[in-house]
Amino acid sequence: MSQHVQTTCPYCGVGCGIIARLEQDGKVSVKGDPKHPANFGRLCSKGAALADTLSMDGRLLYPEIEGTPHSWDNALNYVADKFRSIISEHGPQAIGFYVSGQLLTEDYYVANKLMKGFIGSANIDTNSRLCMSSAVAGYKRAFGSDTVPCAYEDLERAKLVILAGSNTAWCHPVLYQRLAKAKKENPDLMVVVIDPRRTPTCELADLHLPLAAGSDQILFNGLLVYLYDTEESNPLFVEKHTEGLHAALAMARKTAASISTVAESCGLTLDSVSRFYKLFARTERVVSVFSQGINQWSSGTDKVNGIINCHLLTGRIGRPGMGPFSFTGQPNAMGGREVGGLANQLAAHMDINNAADRERVKRFWQASNMVQAEGLKAVDMFRAVADGKIKALWIMATNPAVSLPDNRAVREALEKCEFVVVSDCVRKTDTSRFAHVLLPAQTWGEREGSVTNSERRISRQRAFLPSPGQARADWWIISEIASRLGFVEAFSYQEPVDIFNEHAALSGFENEGQRDFDISGLANLSDREYQGLQPQQWPVTAEQLAGTARMFGDGHFFTDSGRARFIAIAASGPANLPDSDYPLRLNSGRVRDHWHTLTRTGKSARLSAHIFEPFVALNSTYAKDRYISDGELLRVRSRWGEAVVRARLSDDQPAGSVFMPMHWNDQFASQAGVNTLVNPETDPVSGQPEFKHTPVQIETYAANWYGFILSRRRLEMSQLDYWVCSRGNNLWRYEIAGKGIPEDWAGCARRLLCQAAEKVEWIEYFDKSQSRYRAARIENSRLESCIFIGPETSLPDREWLSKLFAKQGLDDNERASLLSGRPANAEQDGGRIVCACFGVGVKTLEKNIREQNLLSVESVGEVLRAGTNCGSCIPEIKSIIFSVRKK
Ligand code: SF4
Repeated sequence: MSQHVQTTCPYCGVGCGIIARLEQDGKVSVKGDPKHPANFGRLCSKGAALADTLSMDGRLLYPEIEGTPHSWDNALNYVADKFRSIISEHGPQAIGFYVSGQLLTEDYYVANKLMKGFIGSANIDTNSRLCMSSAVAGYKRAFGSDTVPCAYEDLERAKLVILAGSNTAWCHPVLYQRLAKAKKENPDLMVVVIDPRRTPTCELADLHLPLAAGSDQILFNGLLVYLYDTEESNPLFVEKHTEGLHAALAMARKTAASISTVAESCGLTLDSVSRFYKLFARTERVVSVFSQGINQWSSGTDKVNGIINCHLLTGRIGRPGMGPFSFTGQPNAMGGREVGGLANQLAAHMDINNAADRERVKRFWQASNMVQAEGLKAVDMFRAVADGKIKALWIMATNPAVSLPDNRAVREALEKCEFVVVSDCVRKTDTSRFAHVLLPAQTWGEREGSVTNSERRISRQRAFLPSPGQARADWWIISEIASRLGFVEAFSYQEPVDIFNEHAALSGFENEGQRDFDISGLANLSDREYQGLQPQQWPVTAEQLAGTARMFGDGHFFTDSGRARFIAIAASGPANLPDSDYPLRLNSGRVRDHWHTLTRTGKSARLSAHIFEPFVALNSTYAKDRYISDGELLRVRSRWGEAVVRARLSDDQPAGSVFMPMHWNDQFASQAGVNTLVNPETDPVSGQPEFKHTPVQIETYAANWYGFILSRRRLEMSQLDYWVCSRGNNLWRYEIAGKGIPEDWAGCARRLLCQAAEKVEWIEYFDKSQSRYRAARIENSRLESCIFIGPETSLPDREWLSKLFAKQGLDDNERASLLSGRPANAEQDGGRIVCACFGVGVKTLEKNIREQNLLSVESVGEVLRAGTNCGSCIPEIKSIIFSVRKK
């Protein structure tokens, strides 16, 4: 017998429905839920590999105080006592909560209630500040409410989809697949990608605008002027439903009066800007998708409003197939917004700076110490920790020692902080090492609650696994602390449904259509109804129990006047400009198969196979002019810190700028954290950091040797200058390099690969003249580990060696070939994995495309199966077909 549940993916804001099946032998399998309206059965590579990430490896299983396991009672009393004493000595502002878009709405709600209603501070902020707070601020400025107007089906109903600052193919892959399918079925659907990089998303683009980094406001200001001047606006809509057009137009004209000015300022051709503007002007059904490439700037809110302005001028909002559409990064960034998870929000989309709203929430909660003003946003919160103003910090389900900008300063702040509590499901993270108390939380598959995706759709996450050790739900942990602080009655929840009902009731409390967020239709769910709750888009009211696909169809907005506001947008550039010391612009972001700080995806061999090493992508011509070759190690420096990563040369990367992924940290690499480099400037309206622009310099990292290790067990690498660790099948893979050349390679290798007293079978090869050393450790004829060292980056491919770890014993031929790194009858290996589902590498793809003349993704799929499951690799396969055919 097996049991299955309908649940929701824990990764990105697409919020795909999943059917998870637990077999009797404890094995878990997942597939896309064909009935879920976000994905209709599709999953991307990350979602499809969820079962690989459920191991107990590295889990935090028991509460710990100062590194010693304790009972829950002890740990909770200890935390509550410490909070109480800090509050009584320094006041509520001395406490901070730093929470996460990974939390479920029920957890988030309780954390906010405790902080804002009972501790009496708004120093609670979320890591969603880092990914979409500019979208929140932009929507609020324009609509008077944080309302995403669109639905995913609008992507299919549009005639023009603009993807601005969004590598949708990698960051929201299932929506990309939906769009790709829509385009295939309707070739008239046009796609414009606005991004300085040529990303895999561009495979779908009819027009790619590789604009100068950060010049988006000018592009959209120019569009506003063009639409107005060519009489392509919707005067009736503007007249009846908006305000502020003329100020916005006047400001736009200052820097974007003509197409030629725009083209010059944005570094685009006249023709491409003109084509984009004409396309927008003549297409009624336009969806403008925007994501982190718009949000993560010190002018992110302006960029958002620049896009919204164009939709207001044309009245393209509130109807099918149109609207400005923010794709959120995290699975529950939207749920966090609903409960007021940001320091400048109040619960249920009420305004923390509005006395009537504060009073209303106070009455509803019967709050004993209602907050009176907004609190510190993420970057400022950690500054307050550094200054000693915040003395106790509770970090829930997030890893700020990796993810916040100016990371060195963040770590110094955590080091100094009097009391740090971390509740997480993972024992060892870069953040947990600063914790005085660790509290074990449940994770995906164990917890019950709800999340909201980018189209306002609330879905259930359901448990199908028992909680390991003493892991508990976050809402339970927070409620227990609240009770120990004396707020027993207000936090006496027994089940998540109690919290959900309260949250839903608050959304309808004295609402009467005044606030956008209203799920009062779900306020009295029984446990059974909550268990069976099907995905729905809010608002969900008694009158509209089926939910609401899109907003503002009636032209009514939530501003005081009921009109949407145009915002005058200045063309401000990045906070820190490149100069002769730091001439390159660093941009950071996600890669296809990894998520956040690798605590989950880093456990999966198939997800780690696509990109196993952190890198800096730089323009091929720029690099070659400076004698930088692909695969060499580079040191990247900014005014805030430095990192050492592998060079990845690409024609898709514009000259003058470089890109680094955001995922790697001290658990997986020696020095690869991109946020060590990123500047801490934030948007003055939203508080969102400028992750997309930091001036940097690069120089060759002159290693004297390079190598790799494959090992069945995880090894200690801290003594090496450069190392990166990734998961393989039955092994850990290390890429290593160093400056100092050891006198005794054999001794050094044994110390790395063997535990002190081990007696092992050890075979080795050393060519001193060539500085090549190779060794393997074998136990009962099974390969346990091997190390390959050489003076250059070119070393044997890892694929054949990796496959030997699947064998229980080596045969004579394999033993004989082991230290050559390839079998005697070697065929070329498959190369870096492109298709994670079927393990198809780039070399296999290139060979087959060339030799069998495979001209389409479909024909590649027929021959190799690549791209036929989750589809995440299709854009990359397309670009490989293109490059093979070009040669
Ligand atoms: S697109 Fe992928 S990562 Fe995002 S929710 Fe769907 S399956 Fe999960």
